[in-house]
Amino acid sequence: MLRTHTCGELNINNVHQNVTLTGWVQKIRDKGGLIWIDLRDRYGITQLVMEEGVTLPEVITVSKTLGREFVIRVEGEVIERISKNPKLPTGDIEIRVAEIEVLNPSKTPPFTIEDQTDGGEELRMKYRYLDLRRNPVKSNLLLRHRMAMETRKYLDSIRFVEIETPVLIKSTPEGARDFVVPSRMNKGRFYALPQSPQTFKQLLMVAGYDRYYQIVKCFRDEDLRADRQPEFTQIDCEMSFVEQEDILNAFEGLTKYLFKEVKNIEVNDFPRMSYDDAMRFYGSDKPDIRFGMRFVELNDVAKNKGFVVFDSAELVVGIAAPGCAGYTRKQLDKLTEFVKKPQIGAKGLVYVKYNEDGTFKSSVDKFFDQESLKNWAEKSGAAPGDLLLVLAGEATPTRKALNELRLEMGNRLGLRNPDVFAPLWVVDFPLLEWDDETQRYHAMHHPFTSPKPEDIPLLDENPGKVRANAYDLVINGVEIGGGSIRIHNKALQQKMFSVLGFSEDEAQAQFGFLMNAFEYGAPPHGGIALGFDRLVSLFGGSDSIRDFIAFPKNNAGRDVMIDSPSEIAPEQLDELGLKLAEDKE
Ligand code: ASP
Repeated sequence: MLRTHTCGELNINNVHQNVTLTGWVQKIRDKGGLIWIDLRDRYGITQLVMEEGVTLPEVITVSKTLGREFVIRVEGEVIERISKNPKLPTGDIEIRVAEIEVLNPSKTPPFTIEDQTDGGEELRMKYRYLDLRRNPVKSNLLLRHRMAMETRKYLDSIRFVEIETPVLIKSTPEGARDFVVPSRMNKGRFYALPQSPQTFKQLLMVAGYDRYYQIVKCFRDEDLRADRQPEFTQIDCEMSFVEQEDILNAFEGLTKYLFKEVKNIEVNDFPRMSYDDAMRFYGSDKPDIRFGMRFVELNDVAKNKGFVVFDSAELVVGIAAPGCAGYTRKQLDKLTEFVKKPQIGAKGLVYVKYNEDGTFKSSVDKFFDQESLKNWAEKSGAAPGDLLLVLAGEATPTRKALNELRLEMGNRLGLRNPDVFAPLWVVDFPLLEWDDETQRYHAMHHPFTSPKPEDIPLLDENPGKVRANAYDLVINGVEIGGGSIRIHNKALQQKMFSVLGFSEDEAQAQFGFLMNAFEYGAPPHGGIALGFDRLVSLFGGSDSIRDFIAFPKNNAGRDVMIDSPSEIAPEQLDELGLKLAEDKE
């Protein structure tokens, strides 16, 4: 090694030792006779000192040529500092430099390499290798590493085997668009990048591997949002000879283990909530249960009292915001504006203030007397001092809008503390989802998900009512993962494809390999995949998975550092047998 120690390890016990350090110049303070340099590497910062009259003149001369981010190597003695810095682990000592060598100079970096940098997002992405030198980004990646290690340790301890599956495959129908790769050797044909290793992990169960996992890249060509990347990482798992309960237990175990090992937090057993209840009480299949404010349906007390907005509504539903009865006109107007935003879509907001003195003041006083409003309050479990916020309209969109309002109130009231973790399982998802656009059913999870055995007869009569053996892991309102018990029987799998509108030939052409495998002794099996980027960002207390990926893509799916995606040479296109569509003038 070019060094004897790292920049993070020397302390008062090393005083008088001669050491050699390497690293990057973080900061230089030249006070005339005295020069201090903060030297940084992955492990920390160590202060170097040079003094005219004590330090060799040629060393001082070299130090005058240094700039930020130069890579240097120094040799010298560890001495006790006069003014100590209790904030640094190395803050009691400094190095009296005897020799210095510039290993590589640096241009002035385009932004400061500090915890609070002056660089904008775009610039930092372009020079991501410099951004990665900063502590906040570095600690995110170290957290990621730690969580991957602990995941492997835990899964290995319960006999899971890590097996790699191919990246050049053919499309798996997970509901998103595939990224495709043209094949040079098979002109006109394309591989697809896996949206997940779904069919392969099922084949590994047929092959008898029993417990598989993989920390694996998956690819989905979707429109991007803050929490989406075109390539992302899953902790992907599959188990044989299991029921839903076994999978929930294994992965509740993993999640609890990670909380304990990585954050030293003990979490209680995860509550279970049916999909129907999640929609009914939270208007979302990923409820944030760090706080209450469950929905209260008010149809029976609010309808048929002459208020046409309620009378014509399929659903009147509200939440009781604790301690908000004192909201001003202005605050209430803001909330009304919020629910009327096009992306939320409510037509208006009704409020009822349950005053401390037991009286009520509402925006619908004309239609409802004190007695009726009291009824509402009782039904909602509201207490004096609370504010009832009520929406009305068609059931599904109204619940969705109230979900947004509930989360907004949770934010305003500081009830969504990122240091509090509230996991739960959402279970009993519907198997199918009707799509108005294509006028057919789609698999809500994926087509390999098994219906609940007792609901199989409904597949013909009322497919929309069939529940699946499918589950999601939700933490703090974020979908961390999902999975299902699979179909392992050829006839049922064929039936499922037919409900999804595949002809027998289409199903055979696309998934024959899987259905054929089911004829050679496929064990009952099921699995789950956890979104690793999301899990790490949740542990790191951030909403943005990008901050936890070493080289992420931007909002437009571009890597601005390597400038990708990019054009390819005409010869490459030729070789692949591809032609670009002519630009239309
Ligand atoms: N392949 C599924 C997904 O990526 C997870 C699973 O069903 O195991 O969402």
